[in-house]
Amino acid sequence: MARVKNINGTSQYACSCGSWLKHWEKISKEKSNYCSEATCINKASVGSHVQKVSVYDSSWYIVPLCDSHNKSSGNLDIRNTTLISASKSKTCG
Ligand SMILES: [Zn+2]
Ligand SMILES: [Zn+2]
Repeated sequence: MARVKNINGTSQYACSCGSWLKHWEKISKEKSNYCSEATCINKASVGSHVQKVSVYDSSWYIVPLCDSHNKSSGNLDIRNTTLISASKSKTCG
């Protein structure tokens, strides 16, 4: 399990994949299913920007989340979800 911090208000920076959820699927080569939050049983509906809660890594990552967790602020415990870089130059750009 990992702890991440949700970054709100970043949806305007969409990449060429169409949506951040598609971006996550394309780069991870996985199908998004459930929300990544550890105890959540909702379907993931968005690819949300998060940062690891770590002083060593301030990069932005994408994880699939449901609507309500996408709107939540603060820290989230996520299950064993692949964290995909939100950097377009490192992934789809
Ligand atoms: Zn992309
Ligand atoms: Zn959720």
